[in-house]
Amino acid sequence: MSLASATTTSRLGTPLLERIGNTPLIRLERLTAHLPGVQILGKAEWANPGGSVKDRAASSIVLDAQARGLLTPGKRLLDATSGNTGIAYAMLGSAMGFGVTLCMPSNVSPERKRILQAYGAEIVWTEPGDGSDGAIRKARELAANEGDKYFYADQYGNNANWQAHYRTTANEIWKQTEGQITHFVAGLGTSGTFVGTTRRLKELNPAIQCISMQPDSPFNGLEGLKHMATAIVPPIYDTTLADRNVEMETEAAYTMAKKLGRTEGLLVGVSAAAAVATSLRIAEEEAAKGNEAVIVTILCDSADKYLSERFWSE
Ligand code: PMP
Repeated sequence: MSLASATTTSRLGTPLLERIGNTPLIRLERLTAHLPGVQILGKAEWANPGGSVKDRAASSIVLDAQARGLLTPGKRLLDATSGNTGIAYAMLGSAMGFGVTLCMPSNVSPERKRILQAYGAEIVWTEPGDGSDGAIRKARELAANEGDKYFYADQYGNNANWQAHYRTTANEIWKQTEGQITHFVAGLGTSGTFVGTTRRLKELNPAIQCISMQPDSPFNGLEGLKHMATAIVPPIYDTTLADRNVEMETEAAYTMAKKLGRTEGLLVGVSAAAAVATSLRIAEEEAAKGNEAVIVTILCDSADKYLSERFWSE
């Protein structure tokens, strides 16, 4: 090809946004080796460019806000986030050219702070003792007082959050399991992943059992998840959807995180480990009843951001 024609070369590679979703579904082989007829499959959400499941919700919220004329040039995206959603917004702001302001408790891990700062996000710190609810109250206050400056993304109340999973996650799972999924397990943070995926899966096959999981206490180490009984309940949460809700202990999640690292070749975050621990309990119940089962769960993120936690070496 001559140099003169180089300007007409087609654009190569993939835009960053198109790499969100279509994550692999990994079979956890050794975990269920003792349970014939039962499989646990984990959706590897760390394969998203921002490293977590929250790329799906964040990109859906941003594109929806742009389409509605809410996130216009010059406005900053504002939200409360304990981590992964913030990372996703910060990545998108950097790639798409809008400013990002995040409210979060000041005790988030140093890894998170560095990632957000590296993407160029502005952070408004809130009292650690007030948890994610304190960050939500701060974001609401900024949105109320400086509405012209910000688009308040409000991931807890924004329908574009759960709709991302209705449109993408559920249909990917259906296709990847060739319609054989029998159980779906997901943790509750904003509840977007569980609500959106469950709504679509139930349309595809109402017999699929959808199980939500949350920490067993407000004082837990399952970052990204909410103890619904004591938290500000997200407006997008729908209590009628779950066939069953499991309360998971932090210690069991830590044990599973270590086990997945040492026997399955998977270094996952603690909420993902909690989701697998829940899935294993269901797998054992189904096997005890002599049932076959295809249990799908969401591996929200990898262990990278949690490696400084002490439990790995205990
Ligand atoms: N796990 C992790 C690590 C998360 O960051 C989040 C999001 N807060 C969740 C689980 C829960 O996902 P969702 O907000 O869709 O309920």
